[in-house]
Amino acid sequence: MTTYPLTDQDRDIQQRARTFVDEQLIPWEEHAEEHGGEIPEDAREEHHKLAIDLGFYAMNLPVELGGTGYTTLQQVLVSEQIGRVTNALGWCVHTPAGWAPDVMSDDQIERWLKPSIRGERRECYAITEAGAGSDVDALTATARRDGDAYVLAGEKMHVTSYNNADHIFFQAKLVGGDHEGEHALFVVDKDTPGIRLIREPRYTHTYPDTHAIVAFDDVRVPAKQLIGAEGDGMNFTYAWFRYERLMIAARCCGAAERLIEAATAFAEERVQFGTPIIENQAIAHMLADSLTELWAARLMTYRVAENIDAGADVKIQHAQCSMVKLYASEMAGRVADRAVQIFGGRGYMRENVAERFYRELRVDRIWEGTSEIQRNIIADQLRKRGVRTLV
Ligand SMILES: Cc1cc2nc3c(=O)[nH]c(=O)nc-3n(C[C@H](O)[C@H](O)[C@H](O)COP(=O)(O)OP(=O)(O)OC[C@H]3O[C@@H](n4cnc5c(N)ncnc54)[C@H](O)[C@@H]3O)c2cc1C
Repeated sequence: MTTYPLTDQDRDIQQRARTFVDEQLIPWEEHAEEHGGEIPEDAREEHHKLAIDLGFYAMNLPVELGGTGYTTLQQVLVSEQIGRVTNALGWCVHTPAGWAPDVMSDDQIERWLKPSIRGERRECYAITEAGAGSDVDALTATARRDGDAYVLAGEKMHVTSYNNADHIFFQAKLVGGDHEGEHALFVVDKDTPGIRLIREPRYTHTYPDTHAIVAFDDVRVPAKQLIGAEGDGMNFTYAWFRYERLMIAARCCGAAERLIEAATAFAEERVQFGTPIIENQAIAHMLADSLTELWAARLMTYRVAENIDAGADVKIQHAQCSMVKLYASEMAGRVADRAVQIFGGRGYMRENVAERFYRELRVDRIWEGTSEIQRNIIADQLRKRGVRTLV
């Protein structure tokens, strides 16, 4: 399917993911768009079951815990295929917290992680606040130790999948004690008294998952729901950022491939002034630029995954995940814009794949760190390590 050297096993995984997307998910895409991201419950359940049976669900977690234990490259191959369909459907392939096995207690693994891997429970992340977006260290949510419990307080926004989750990873700054002002991360059941949904605003895309604004009004949780040690909170967030940035890059490659295929087919078939519009160099060159940029992004994405699998230094991983997220998300945005242009008026219709991706891909330059923040990270690493270490 690609010219990149892959093992037979990698190609088999890639092909299974592609078939799943083509045969099970894409047929529901227009229905989902027209129904607020929703599809009939039996179809949704079937997708969930298939994602588990095919080994894509929890592919990032070790076999001993019930995951599939794919290599990073294999996860990228699956995510790339999933990127070819709207997230409204593609998120049936869910990857629970891959950072968790190393830091969660046995009790936490049994209560939250293993059921999440089995697809029985679902997490969401409450980190961002009104005053703390790019600057995560500015967050004002607090965690105060009180006997054998912590009391959590604060207001979080953009909490993705809050409506479908049953537990929340909540990040706060410690008040009092030896680690005053440092970060701590907690796992909290959504039905814990004091958790209050403020509202679920609408966003540009059409997903069944909401992005909630949620208040924690002095939520009391047992101290054993602290993940890792006091002061560790930011480390897990960075690990999650790296993973998500790479998988966003992979999904962007998949989206770009689908758009280039669709726009090329349309440009060959659409006749104006007596010739297919692809005969116009203005149109053909948009496709040529898109294809070239996709290839560059894909090569980068696969290579970063291989570097991670080979055990690259974590700082280098951090810089390379930023580079690939920056490049692939900006590439996909350009490709979507060109695809809309090639489709003309049809590209502006809700039933058109280019219109959908034009909206959906926009957030890939914002979430898990904006393009500007990725550039800051890359430039910082460049100054610390030099060109030859990073590329
Ligand atoms: C759909 C969606 C889902 C999300 N899901 C979650 C979630 O599940 N959990 C969660 O915790 N968060 C979530 N987020 C939050 C997301 O991670 C933040 O939106 C993102 O990190 C940017 O923060 P911000 O929106 O506050 O923008 P700001 O930080 O206010 O930035 C505004 C602008 O200023 C720029 N800027 C800021 N600082 C600098 C700088 N130092 N140098 C140059 N430019 C700068 C930014 O790049 C941006 O262009 C989600 C966001 C969205 C849109």
